[in-house]
Amino acid sequence: MSPREFVVLGTASQVPTRDRNHNGYVLRWDDEGILFDPGEGSQRQMLRAGVSAHDLTRICVTHFHGDHSLGLAGTVQRINLDRVPHPVAVHYPASGQRYFERLRYATAYREAAELRPEPVAADGPVARTPGFTLSAARLSHPVEAFGYRLDEPDGRRMVPGLLAEAGVAGPDIGRLQREGELRGVRLADVSVARPGQSFAFVMDTRLCPAVPLLARGCDLLVIESTFLDEDAALAEDFGHLTAGQAGRVAAEAGVRHLVLTHFSQRYADPEEFGRQARAAGYRGGLTVARDLDRVPVPRRRTAHGGPGPGGG
Ligand SMILES: [Zn+2]
Repeated sequence: MSPREFVVLGTASQVPTRDRNHNGYVLRWDDEGILFDPGEGSQRQMLRAGVSAHDLTRICVTHFHGDHSLGLAGTVQRINLDRVPHPVAVHYPASGQRYFERLRYATAYREAAELRPEPVAADGPVARTPGFTLSAARLSHPVEAFGYRLDEPDGRRMVPGLLAEAGVAGPDIGRLQREGELRGVRLADVSVARPGQSFAFVMDTRLCPAVPLLARGCDLLVIESTFLDEDAALAEDFGHLTAGQAGRVAAEAGVRHLVLTHFSQRYADPEEFGRQARAAGYRGGLTVARDLDRVPVPRRRTAHGGPGPGGG
């Protein structure tokens, strides 16, 4: 199975800096590559991160501010230039249809790939695949914004020793998985529970009910923390979170690994974002994102809640 990992293309809010590109992220999840919020320069950052246009199966835009979407024009043209052979779905707030169309057709190019616009108009599932359900939830920002969450369904992991004991082998394993029972052997007798994994992407927003809903129980939560806690009033005014707010949400939601990003260029020491998230009570894994970081999705939980034997 290909790895599940989160690739950071850029981490700056509003304007890029010497060290931080505009936002942009790619989630590699089995055979999907999901590009989130491509800001300016995302095409080149993909090159530096080793992500090709062919890797992309889906694009999710939270909202149409430039730092989350100006890179759409270049990325869409690259998908066409490279003649990506599979369709690429694009999810974005339906209220931003005109921005989507302008970015899609910002300049002249030859359309050689299939882009599938799938505007999001309400909370709920936006895509279902055999591997996961992708949902959106409306956030609170000066322009309409949606956060995204990916949930893998719970499943069962077959245990080779138990299969051998029960005399189930070859194509019969697949039949047992599909039918739940085969010649008196029940699926539960030869397998263990395999809890599904989850991922959430939350930006830009002030605290609102959708934030903890998106974050709940996530294996990996990527969340904006534009401001430090001392600037909480600014965060509220501009529709953003502080590092402490992000840390508290993650702690209360039982998040296993937290990625803080989308930092205001007003702060010199990014590590202070991590310290404030910790001070707010967050104890799980933590990444204060830098451009080109790669963050693995944590190893799968076992049915008992501890770290599992991996894979699955
Ligand atoms: Zn932003």
